[in-house]
Amino acid sequence: MKWFTGIVCTLFLTAPAFAEKTYSPQEAQEELKQGNSRYMTGKSSHVRIDPVSRERTALFGQKPLATILGCSDARVPPEIVFDQGFGELFVVRVAGNVCSTAELASVEYGVKYLKTPLVVVLGHTHCGAVQAALGNAELKGSLPKLIAMITPAVADAKAKAPKAVADKLLNASIEANVRKTMKDILTNSPGLDEMVRNNKVALVGAIRDIEHGGIVWLKP
Ligand SMILES: [Zn+2]
Repeated sequence: MKWFTGIVCTLFLTAPAFAEKTYSPQEAQEELKQGNSRYMTGKSSHVRIDPVSRERTALFGQKPLATILGCSDARVPPEIVFDQGFGELFVVRVAGNVCSTAELASVEYGVKYLKTPLVVVLGHTHCGAVQAALGNAELKGSLPKLIAMITPAVADAKAKAPKAVADKLLNASIEANVRKTMKDILTNSPGLDEMVRNNKVALVGAIRDIEHGGIVWLKP
């Protein structure tokens, strides 16, 4: 038991304050904004990504401040973009940040069981999945089913800006796709919809610019 007591004492003494903090939806979003700002200015703080953090979260569990549903693209890692450490983000990643049953169940788990006060749907510029939907790419295997989930967002963007040139249309489609996923979450999860309506949880959309690293938070 001595070793166990030693670990617990060490962990309590060194555990950062975030472990006990409970965030409101607004505070959670502010923390993500500040984290992105630290990342953008080269002041990322990874002190929490160390053996002590690993042991602490293994012993005491996770208490993430936000659930992130983002694209699988290797250039958009949420923990780095938002400068967060072990146990701080509950991340669901899928190409094109779409929301089918598995993703929705994961988001529900993040909110209902891990009590995250904030859900972020995170798209990004130059998204290949949205590009594929926009270009009617010929795809094989299971990919057409995934891209079909993005096609309505592309159609929506085209309808709103029929004369938009390629780059603008892609960006408009990326935003429309984030908004579609947000709508899908609320439509297909009455429980989450009610929590959002009652301001127990905030659902926000964001797009990461992969060139300069910043986050654009979508207006409601
Ligand atoms: Zn993508």
